[in-house]
Amino acid sequence: PVIPVGEIIKGSAHRFGNKTAIIYKEKEFSYQSLYEEALKFANALKDNGFKKGDVIAIHMPNCPQYAIAYYGILLSGATFSPANPLLPPKDLAYQLNDCGAKAVVTWEQTAPNIKKVLLDTKLELAIVTGDTELTNEGIMDVSDEDGNWVSFNKFKEQGEAKELTIDINPKEDLAHIAYTGGTTGPSKGVLISHYNVVVNVIQFNSWRSGHLPNATENGLMMEVPDSVNIDEYPSKMGKDRLINLTPWFHAMGTVGYMNNPFLSGSTLILHQRFDPGLYLQDAEKYKVTGMGGAPPIYVALVRHPDFHKRDLSSITTISSGAAPLPVELIHLLKNRFPGVIVNEGYGLTEVTMGASSNPSFKSGVRKDGSVGIPVFDTEVKICPLDGSFEALPPREEGEICVKGPQVMRGYYNKPEETAAVLKDGWLRTGDIGYMDEDGFIFIVDRKKDMLIYKGYNVYPRELEELLFKHPSVANAAVVGKPDMEVGEIPKAYVVVKSGEQITEQQLMDHVNEQVIPYKKIRELEFVDEIPVSAAGKVLKRVLRDREKSRSK
Ligand code: ATP
Repeated sequence: PVIPVGEIIKGSAHRFGNKTAIIYKEKEFSYQSLYEEALKFANALKDNGFKKGDVIAIHMPNCPQYAIAYYGILLSGATFSPANPLLPPKDLAYQLNDCGAKAVVTWEQTAPNIKKVLLDTKLELAIVTGDTELTNEGIMDVSDEDGNWVSFNKFKEQGEAKELTIDINPKEDLAHIAYTGGTTGPSKGVLISHYNVVVNVIQFNSWRSGHLPNATENGLMMEVPDSVNIDEYPSKMGKDRLINLTPWFHAMGTVGYMNNPFLSGSTLILHQRFDPGLYLQDAEKYKVTGMGGAPPIYVALVRHPDFHKRDLSSITTISSGAAPLPVELIHLLKNRFPGVIVNEGYGLTEVTMGASSNPSFKSGVRKDGSVGIPVFDTEVKICPLDGSFEALPPREEGEICVKGPQVMRGYYNKPEETAAVLKDGWLRTGDIGYMDEDGFIFIVDRKKDMLIYKGYNVYPRELEELLFKHPSVANAAVVGKPDMEVGEIPKAYVVVKSGEQITEQQLMDHVNEQVIPYKKIRELEFVDEIPVSAAGKVLKRVLRDREKSRSK
C-alpha cells in the first residue's frame, strides 16, 4: 500500500466517525474529532511557514495532544521526530540538533528542559501543552516567554480543519526520524519513510486479525501488493479496547500502539504512568480486550495482589515485545488466563517497529519462548557473526538478519554506520538467535550483551530464564563483570519477592546446577530494583557501568 501515514487517521475518521478513539483521564475523543484537530494542527504548521520535509519533534508523554500533533505533522508533509520526555538536557540537545528539528511540541512538566536547550538548537518554535488544555482552563502562562513559545490550543486554533493537498511520495518521503533506544550506545537517527510505517502497521494488523493479504496455506512470506486497499484492513478488531502504556516516542508505541489500533478502530485508554493497581482496575472497568506492552509490566502485574481478584474475563489476547518475555512469565499468564492467546513479537527501531511475531489470531500456531515467524513480505535469516550473509542451518546460532519493506532507509547522516548494518536490503540486527525447523525465531541475546568468560561466549538471557524459574525471584538481570583473570564473569542482580527467605548462594546453586561450568553465575547481588528504560528494556549499560566503576 503506497499511501502516506495521514491516510490512516483519515480513513478511520471516515469508517469509525464518532466512535471513541482515546479515553484519557475520563475524557473521550472520537475518531472524527482526532482527525479534525490534526487537520487544524497541520494547517497551522503550514500557515506558520513550516514546509514539507521540515522536522518537528514531539517531546511529551502519551496524551491526546500527542496523537493530534503526530498526525498533524504528517498530514502537513513534515517529518516527525520523537524525543523521550525524560531525556536529560544534554541528550535532548544532541537529538534535536542531530535531526535539525525546527519546532517542538512539549508538555508543561517537560518544557523546562526545552527552555534550557532552546538557544543551542535550530528550534524556531516551542508549542507547549498540558492537562489543563484539555479542560479548557488554558495552558500555563506562556505570555511571559519570548516569541518562540505558544500554547498548543492557541497554535492549533490558527488552522482550519480542512484537507491539505501535499504531494507526498510515500516511498521517498520521511515520516519519522526515530532515535534508537540508546540501550547499548549513543542514539542514532533512523530514517523511516511513510511506506515503512504503513506497511509495518498492516503487517502487524493482519498478523493479529488473521486477515492476511493473499494468504497462502501456512500464512508465510507473502507479497504486499502495492495496490492493497487499506480499507480492507481492519476491522475484525474494531471492538478492541486496550490500555496503552507503551510510550509513543518509541517505535513499538508509534506503530504498534497508536497507528495499529487506530487503523482498526480500537479504543485506547491512555495511562501515562504504569500503576499496576490502576491498570487492573481500569482493565476491569473498561472491559479491555487485550493487554500489550513490554515484559516489565507483566512482571509487576503478576505480583500485584489484585491480579487474581479483578474480573478480567474480557481479555482475549496478551502481547509482548521490545525485550525478552521469560517463559516462566508466559506460564503464569496462561494459568491466570486459560484460553487467552499470549504472543510475543520482535523488532527494533531499524525495522520501523517489527519483523516477526507469533500470530495472534485463533488458528495461528505459536511457540512459547519464540518471537514467532516473519510477518508477511519479510525474510529473516541467521548469519554467521563474522559479517557474512550466508544463511546458517536450523538451530544454529548467529546474527538475526531481516529484509522487508519495513527496513529503514538508513541512519541519518551516518553513512558508515549505515553501511555497517545494511547490505542489499538485508539488515544486521545485532541480535543473536536461531530458527527452528518450522522457521520460528528464538532470540538468544543481544550481541552487545554477550559476555566472554575464559574465551567462552555466555548469554545472560539463559541464566536470567533460570533465575525467573525460581519461585522466590521477582526480577533478575545478568551482566558481565570485568575480571582480570578470566575476562568477564556472569554477575546476577536479583529482586526477591517480598516475604521470601533465600540466600545469594542458594540462588546461585539453583542456576549453576543446571548449566555447564563456564556459564556459572559467579556473583549475585540482591537489589530493590532493576533499572529499566521507558520502553521497558533492562538498562544493562547502567549495570555494567556500575560494575566497571566499582572495579576501578
Ligand atoms: P540501541 O540500539 O541504541 O542500543 P535499543 O536496541 O534499545 O537501542 P530499540 O530499537 O528500542 O533500540 O530496541 C530493539 C532491540 O530490542 C532489539 O534489537 C532486541 O535486542 C530487543 N528486542 C525487541 N523485541 C524483543 C523480544 N521479543 N525479545 C528479546 N529482545 C527483543
